Amino acid sequence: VEKSAQQPKEGPVRKPSQPAVFVPVDRMPEIQEARLRLPVLAEEQVIMEAVRENPCIVLCGETGSGKTTQMPQFLYEAGYASGKGIIGITEPRRVAAVSMSQRVAMEMNLPTQVVSYQIRYEGNVTTDTKIKFMTDGVLLKEIQKDFLLQHYSVIIIDEAHERSVYTDILIGLLSRIVPLRNKKGLPMKLIIMSATLRVEDFTDNKKLFPSPPPVIKVDARQFPVSIHFNKRTPMEDYSWVDKTGGILVFLTGQAEVHDVCRRLRKAFPFRRSTTDTGKEEETFKDTRRFKKDKQKQALPRIHLDNYSALPVDEGDEDQLAGVDDDECGYEGCELDLGEDEGDPDEKADPSIPLYVLPLYSLLAPEQQAKVFQASPAGTRLCVVATNVAETSLTIPGIKYVVDCGRVKKRYYDRVTGVSSFKVSWTSQASANQRAGRAGRTEPGHCYRLFSSAVFGDFSEFSEAEITRRPVEDLVLQMKDLNIDKVVNFPFPTAPSGEALMAAEQLLVSLGALEEPPRTGRVKDIERAKLSCPVTPLGRAMASFPVAPRFAKMLALGRQQDCLPYVIAVVASMTVREIFEDLERPAASEDESSKLAQNKARLMQMRRLWAGQGPSLLLGDLMVLLGAVGACEYAGCTPQFCETNGLRYKAMVEIRRLRGQLTNAVNAVCSEGGVFVDSKMAPPTESQVICLRQILLAGLGDHLARRIREEEILDPKWKNGYKTPLLDDPVFIHPSSALFKKPPEFVVYQEVMETTKMYMREGLVCHCTSTFYRVAWPLPAVEKAYPEGLDRFKLFAKFLLEGEVCLKLKKNCSVLLSN
Ligand code: ADP
Ligand code: MG
Repeated sequence: VEKSAQQPKEGPVRKPSQPAVFVPVDRMPEIQEARLRLPVLAEEQVIMEAVRENPCIVLCGETGSGKTTQMPQFLYEAGYASGKGIIGITEPRRVAAVSMSQRVAMEMNLPTQVVSYQIRYEGNVTTDTKIKFMTDGVLLKEIQKDFLLQHYSVIIIDEAHERSVYTDILIGLLSRIVPLRNKKGLPMKLIIMSATLRVEDFTDNKKLFPSPPPVIKVDARQFPVSIHFNKRTPMEDYSWVDKTGGILVFLTGQAEVHDVCRRLRKAFPFRRSTTDTGKEEETFKDTRRFKKDKQKQALPRIHLDNYSALPVDEGDEDQLAGVDDDECGYEGCELDLGEDEGDPDEKADPSIPLYVLPLYSLLAPEQQAKVFQASPAGTRLCVVATNVAETSLTIPGIKYVVDCGRVKKRYYDRVTGVSSFKVSWTSQASANQRAGRAGRTEPGHCYRLFSSAVFGDFSEFSEAEITRRPVEDLVLQMKDLNIDKVVNFPFPTAPSGEALMAAEQLLVSLGALEEPPRTGRVKDIERAKLSCPVTPLGRAMASFPVAPRFAKMLALGRQQDCLPYVIAVVASMTVREIFEDLERPAASEDESSKLAQNKARLMQMRRLWAGQGPSLLLGDLMVLLGAVGACEYAGCTPQFCETNGLRYKAMVEIRRLRGQLTNAVNAVCSEGGVFVDSKMAPPTESQVICLRQILLAGLGDHLARRIREEEILDPKWKNGYKTPLLDDPVFIHPSSALFKKPPEFVVYQEVMETTKMYMREGLVCHCTSTFYRVAWPLPAVEKAYPEGLDRFKLFAKFLLEGEVCLKLKKNCSVLLSN
């Protein structure tokens, strides 16, 4: 244990003023035995002394040393949950919040009413809860309701090294809340836990903590891990000589994980005993069922009261052949599993069959839980994972790590607003984390699929997420907490001034913040621009658990009598990946033919959901609405979702979010009484028109115009769209409802760069004067863009060129001539 100056002396000395509270916990003997082997147990005394003596401490220790599971127990035993307050612990990942609460409840022999969790859509917290695991976003929402967090006696911020945006903001806020609480005589403790040793962003940050908190380091009992770098040629020794020890493979994304699982299963076949064939049998049954479907040439139809089917469009399915995958692969890093060249038997000993399991965050929870269970006798566990396995989950019995050295991250270009997932080299810290997973129970090996020279070029640490994404949601949350000068907020790592400015401007244009004055001294104007106070609309928006653009739609939906639809659309735009990925690589040959057969059928289904008549104007958003509606009519069953290419987990989340958003909107609009039936009838024509206007109010600046024949400078531009901000064209994704009949104008949710720049969730935009009045009233546009008029002029120029609206044309000409 390394100690900083402030740290109390080691030893069992307890200040006489401090009562030695001890709350007994009745653990099972085998649990108690396993706990004693964890490195943090040896430091319990030192850690708890430090907690007693300081309002805030930082606890550092290798992954698997017992921080997450033990720290809440130490605090519980020391009486921190015996008074009025409870122990709160935040996790950046939902998976971790749920599974860790269950694990701790089990270790403490306490029911889940006492050791509970809360994530965005669900939880099992009761009035008896003493230890509460939650996602960091949940705690941030709670701060909005009660800035002093009086419900808690301790907050533990776990996985601080991940530098997730909410974790960073929480640390900033808590650095102020804890002293306030102590001043008011309501003592509170803050514990920041981190896996890596780079804690300077928290400790050497005078703005954050004027006197640095003590850092306690726990030395993990880590066994040596031999690192094998890749030479220029692929590694020869993929045959793992030992008979025991699990393998953990780190890859970048879901598609890769499935692909490698399939290849591994083929190269190291594992014949399951009859007791273990449940899942396999299911798969075969499915295949047969789909084959039958194909023989009949029957298109499944939905007979769902009002969700009538469109006449089947006999379109050219070939157009879909080139659909691009959202998951991008990477080059230059070969996972050679011996499948494609030569006999796999020469490379590895097939007498040890592999029990291959995928692990990634979107995987169904019961599949995820499998990695913690013992693998079938006579097999070797092989988990193929994304970086969820890097620090938040510890898989027992791993002796070998294979690391591709890459990571997939979401990047956001602030200037153009384009999002993309890019695969890049990871950091040295994270590569070492990954390697460390091999040496937890005995000496291990880490096979790095990159050379030591490449490793030398890695950045030392991964950068904080806050520097890579838009911050309008955070800015709005802070303004709602009356932190008007967001630039002065004690961020562990501050977002750029540019990002803060862009956020402030968007929020002003959405009506969430008061407009800055436009007259006065230049200096004052500049200063005012970064400290606009929140408006009543902004406060309402801040109370909705969605991004500001969506929050604006909800606020408008209330006024226009189509709230249920707005809520359903917003809920489905917020939930990730509601449709099964039709381009996912198959896990087996059988699955691959099943997927191909299914694809055409599912695309047809999406066209049915897109509706007809005015509904078509809503484009992909009507598809979302149709899918949600149809699913609810069918009772939202796993079977319905599977047959119709929907992700069951996502549909359940949407249902919960709809309930939650309805409550949130009703709470704000006290005249209330908006009844939301989970089975909503399809919208009427006037509701569709109104709905579209509302959606446009949130996305009005995301407009794209189809490139005309004469404008095409490059054959690649065919079917492209122009946007005010990008030089290069953007495209409608082949899976979009708008793909076959591309409209002249499209408004989209976001631009995502994969193999091309694709617009996500487009809706048709005919720029009629009605739309324009609601979405962007002209005087308001001018007001909202006091100096961004150039951007607006570009936008207006589009409309002129499109000759869509005479009235508008007149107005625009005036604007353009000034
Ligand atoms: P840290 O937070 O320091 O990374 P943890 O507290 O998560 O460490 O893990 C401590 C130990 O508890 C590890 O050995 C891990 O394997 C074990 N553990 C955690 N969760 C489970 C679980 N669900 N099942 C079995 N073992 C678990
Ligand atoms: Mg942990």
